[in-house]
Amino acid sequence: MCGIIGYIGEENAAPILLNGLKKMEYRGYDSAGIATLSDDGILLLKDKGKISEIDQKVNFLDLKGKIGIAHTRWATHGGVTYENAHPHVSCGLEVATIHNGIIENHHQLRKKLMDECHNFNSDTDSEIIAHLLERYYKESGKVKKALLQTVQTLKGTFAFQAIFKHEPNIIVGARKDAPLVIGLGKNGNFLASDIISFIDHTDKVMFLDNHEIVVMRGKRMNVYTFNGERIVKEITQVAWEAKETSKEAFAHYTVKEIHEQPKTLRTAMHQNSKKVLDFICAIKEAEQIYITACGTSYHAGLIFRNLLARIAKVRSHISVSSEFSQNVELIDEDTLVIALSQSGETADVLESVSLAKEQGAKVFSILNAEGSSLSRESQMNLFFNCGPEIGVAATKSFTGQLAVIYVLIFSLVDDSKMSNKLFDIPRNVEKVLETEKNIIKIAEKYKDDSDLYFIGRSIHFPIALEGALKLKELSYNHAEGMAGGELKHGTLALIEEGKPVIVLNPKDHTYDEMLNNISEMKARGAKIIGVSNRPNGMYDDFIQIPKVDELLYPIVEVIPLQLLAYHTAVLRQRNPDYPRNLAKSVTVT
Ligand code: GLU
Repeated sequence: MCGIIGYIGEENAAPILLNGLKKMEYRGYDSAGIATLSDDGILLLKDKGKISEIDQKVNFLDLKGKIGIAHTRWATHGGVTYENAHPHVSCGLEVATIHNGIIENHHQLRKKLMDECHNFNSDTDSEIIAHLLERYYKESGKVKKALLQTVQTLKGTFAFQAIFKHEPNIIVGARKDAPLVIGLGKNGNFLASDIISFIDHTDKVMFLDNHEIVVMRGKRMNVYTFNGERIVKEITQVAWEAKETSKEAFAHYTVKEIHEQPKTLRTAMHQNSKKVLDFICAIKEAEQIYITACGTSYHAGLIFRNLLARIAKVRSHISVSSEFSQNVELIDEDTLVIALSQSGETADVLESVSLAKEQGAKVFSILNAEGSSLSRESQMNLFFNCGPEIGVAATKSFTGQLAVIYVLIFSLVDDSKMSNKLFDIPRNVEKVLETEKNIIKIAEKYKDDSDLYFIGRSIHFPIALEGALKLKELSYNHAEGMAGGELKHGTLALIEEGKPVIVLNPKDHTYDEMLNNISEMKARGAKIIGVSNRPNGMYDDFIQIPKVDELLYPIVEVIPLQLLAYHTAVLRQRNPDYPRNLAKSVTVT
């Protein structure tokens, strides 16, 4: 994961880089650091902890220089320590680097370089890049050559950047299976993991592709393949506006994003009809369909599969992306693989898509980030356009994905009545958001329960999984999502006096069976929190949701679960925007 950003231009680099790091903190917050190039050589400040904490200790703005690189870390190799924080500097203090990804052959390379008397300061795989660049640069005195030799030596995944003490006007970068995008500003240029980090300065970007390097020299920049061939890149104007990344009046990004959902749902529902038609043609023509996704997107995928089967009578398979390779023997040129993602940079999803393409399959994606690696790997994309999602826990991206999935399903079966009902859903989401006070009371009541269960049947089951995931990642309380009928096959043993169980129970075809499950649990002392359009005496606590068409309940019923997780986290004094050990946009496998 990690967020990296570089700046080269006419302004002081440190404030620009610091602001960029704050915007990318969702990518990792174990440690952070900035290195700039000044008349005194490479200047470096870094430490463990979140950017704002470090900034109070070290004052990043003391760093002089108009060229610099910065990093916010999500540790993969080496503990969370000062030494392991990026940027890393080579032992001759000639090169500073930042890296996102995993260098797989770092052990062998480290040993080789140590034999050549290089001293290492950290336990990271990343530091190797600084030493290699220094070594090759010393040999030839040429930046591009040193960079090409370095990328040809490295195995694994990387987006990295470097500055050189003796090259006062240069930043270099390289990309293999981790994102890197160039921003073209008026007073300087940027190189970063995410557009969001420099969107305050420019919306003109150039996406680096895999196996490409860039040499930014003053205002000029040249992009090459790993073989050194020059490439001309297209400039793209991105639609996201800088203001969308502010918290506005909300305490956290997470709750702002939860409240944005009526708006983001409306945007997501407005899809280009020609593109929808092409997508559904591919669904109809495919011999078989595989859905690949991770985390929250996987839960959206489960609903997709449910609707494809029940409504469109289309058979499909789903796999979490990290297990997708188990299906590889079954994938062929008549397969349609549908990838679901928010960032379009999730390494596991990208790997599954690449495996599918090797087998000749078609890849279509439903995602948020235009220009992302996944969007460029797919033959066709539908974007849910919910704007930047900064909170690490997915909220508006989940409902945005669902909105696109419903548009596809109702177009597949040509049901305009259901399409109209879908357009009514944002209004119903507004109604649920108005019940926030009741949800805060319930959060207060159960915040100290370290073990909760979420149950649902049929289309509600993925929402039970999603509710449990939200609670775990935001509040660190243990939670488990289960199919209503499954409890009695083992987990019921854990139900005892006072155990909270959140039951997704709108009045639909699952209602009566769910009441039976509730009785079974109540008989063992469980406290039932009912989420339904209809009150019932069996509930100890009740979260009212509006009555909607039974197919559409998932979007409406997930909203109180997001709020419950958020408020539980706040009451437990967790920072919901930055859950421990996690990062958004999981760019490592
Ligand atoms: N492997 C590097 C480290 O642990 C970078 C991690 C990442 O990109 O997530 O510092």
